[in-house]
Amino acid sequence: MSNLRFKVVEEAFKKRPVWVDMPDARPSDYFAKYVFNREKMFKYLPLNTYKQLLNSIEQGTPLPLQVADEVAGGMKRWAMEMGATHCTHWFQPLTEGTAEKHDAFVEHDGKGGMLENFSGKELVQQEPDASSFPNGGIRSTFEARGYSAWDPASPVFIIGDTLMIPTVFISYTGEALDYKAPLKKSLAAIDKAATEVARYFDENVKRVRVNLGWEQEYFLVDEGLYAARPDLLLTGRTLMGHESSKNQQMDDHYFGAIPERVAEFMKDLEIQALELGIPCKTRHNEAAPNQFELAPIFEECNLAVDHNMLLMSLMRTVARKHGFRCLLHEKPFAGINGSGKHNNWSLTTDTGVLLHSPGKTPEDNLRFITFVVQTLVAVHRHNGLLKASIMSATNAHRLGGGEAPPAIISGFLGPQLNEMLDRIECSSKEQLFTLEGAHGMKLDIPQIPELMVDNTDRNRTSPFAFTGNRFEFRAVGAMANCAGAMIALNAAVAEALSDFKARVDALMAGGESKICAILDVLREDIRSCRGILFDGNGYSEEWHREAAQRGLDCETSCPLIFDRYLHESSVQMFERTHVMSRHELEARNEIKWETYYKKIQIESRVLGDLCMNHIIPVATKYQSELADNVHKLHLVFPDPEKVKSLTAYNIDLIEKINKHTEFIAVNVEKMVETRKRVNRIEEIRAKAIAYHDEVAPFLDAIRRHIDSLELIVEDELWPLPKYRELLFVR
Ligand code: ADP
Ligand code: MG
Repeated sequence: MSNLRFKVVEEAFKKRPVWVDMPDARPSDYFAKYVFNREKMFKYLPLNTYKQLLNSIEQGTPLPLQVADEVAGGMKRWAMEMGATHCTHWFQPLTEGTAEKHDAFVEHDGKGGMLENFSGKELVQQEPDASSFPNGGIRSTFEARGYSAWDPASPVFIIGDTLMIPTVFISYTGEALDYKAPLKKSLAAIDKAATEVARYFDENVKRVRVNLGWEQEYFLVDEGLYAARPDLLLTGRTLMGHESSKNQQMDDHYFGAIPERVAEFMKDLEIQALELGIPCKTRHNEAAPNQFELAPIFEECNLAVDHNMLLMSLMRTVARKHGFRCLLHEKPFAGINGSGKHNNWSLTTDTGVLLHSPGKTPEDNLRFITFVVQTLVAVHRHNGLLKASIMSATNAHRLGGGEAPPAIISGFLGPQLNEMLDRIECSSKEQLFTLEGAHGMKLDIPQIPELMVDNTDRNRTSPFAFTGNRFEFRAVGAMANCAGAMIALNAAVAEALSDFKARVDALMAGGESKICAILDVLREDIRSCRGILFDGNGYSEEWHREAAQRGLDCETSCPLIFDRYLHESSVQMFERTHVMSRHELEARNEIKWETYYKKIQIESRVLGDLCMNHIIPVATKYQSELADNVHKLHLVFPDPEKVKSLTAYNIDLIEKINKHTEFIAVNVEKMVETRKRVNRIEEIRAKAIAYHDEVAPFLDAIRRHIDSLELIVEDELWPLPKYRELLFVR
């Protein structure tokens, strides 16, 4: 068969797993083999340097240059022993990936030769000529350069022959050009605010860290099939494709046996990820065919974000070795589940207490409820912003599509916690306290059953759910940098906690006892943030109506949702917590709008090309074959009645094809005209809105007609691999 599609399907079917040898060692032996972790720091650095570096990692104090030189010396020695010849600053610009520029460890030795060198200065700071990274106008070209600066909190690691140094990326004025810089600021903000509140309950608390455990969903597609789909290749998603007769309706993929070729990929990926210090733990089939998930053990948020970025690029390269392409797009296929990245988020004190976890004593539980309620206060106050934080042109396809998450942010607590909040809200002081002997007052907050930790009804429709000892922000997109969501959440919770503290302190200054003051403020907060709590079905029509009545953000247009970043409440919150300035927020929004419209623009171009070069010609060819048949039947059967009945079916098909191709041709032309007009809009926000309102609707409308044609045109002529092949061949 000449059809490329048949060839690639045939080849895909023949592919066998690429067997991966398990290392002789156990994971505990090769875990972090390529990471300059504490063990290696201790081995390769002078003791004093080691201590100073640890101090800098733990307290965030800057490293003196001379110490940095010693650190660089030790790192270089380790890296060269491991076979590395180059190093790079590794950063997270406001694109979808990471950036790196490799420099060799070489310098002239002054005698006509070369020597291997790597200085503290190179380690600590570099000036990548990064004028083509998106900066939203922060770094105009005459101000030229951006700086990358080492983040000692995230250890350096080796990939191939290169020492990778995690860095922040900022402009010469100190404004953030990346995700990491504001993320670190948001972690500092929540550390400060949460420590102060945690000290109400335990004065020994000195630091609070944020935990993040992400769950990464993805699709695997055979790379031959992928290559035969220009839409997947260029946009990351299928712009056309009729639903496969069988997809996920049998629920037979979810948690099913992992296909052999995929299992080998996963094994390979996990070994490599473990060697890079990513603590992989869980893997399973997801709901949609050819969809899978990987989740590590949770880690400190900054490190977890780096590890997720690293894992995503590892997934792409390892997939290719196994003849797959890894799709991280949030909605590669219409009609079946898309991919998200649940962000499990919680706070831990340096005394080892999980602040979102219930405890044994009533005081512990008051602490627990305080942190749960303040998180809800933050999510309530900034629900629109949180939605903006996970929003993108690609994730927009998931929102409101009948799969987590709906386009409204709400919080889920489960019946037991709800009851607890009701009880506190409705109680008077007298009810919550009973006088008890020498210990004075006893708090009447009942013990929270241990069981709850595992028993919180996992309401899968909730975008922000409490799951026992953490909140799970489920709306984050599969290919997003988790930092986007974490920056907004951390900053919002930091703001809520400092407001909480200010009010409690004021009551205490007025003579209230600490516990009474805390309860008074909590009572007020529980009442005011009720609107965010919703335990029902987040996909239902009624919820949409009710959410609007509750004043929750129900906007669904992606470019308009980005506006939430610039609402006064958001700007104030980010400025108060010192996470981002108004200027930075404005610059970032420029980038968001620009990225948005460019994505739609590319999709629209690709669809136009495919329509004109693939779909219409093939449909027309098939139509001619049908017409040819009709013509020949006329020659064979001169009886007009007879020939009429014999040709009726094909004539009907000819007309249908005509209807669809005509619609496609006319609308591709209209879409192109619209694009031309919209491209003339200068103002970036207006342009993004126009792309959303005027260009994007063509994509869906045209697609419907292509998908109808797919059902009509002879299978052998159809040029693009079909859904049933993309999703079931492995
Ligand atoms: P699920 O049942 O939600 O799919 P998984 O076990 O797949 O759960 O993933 C849960 C993720 O949450 C893992 O990364 C896990 O380490 C992480 N996690 C567990 N407890 C916490 C916590 N207290 N804070 C943050 N993350 C956590
Ligand atoms: Mg989960």
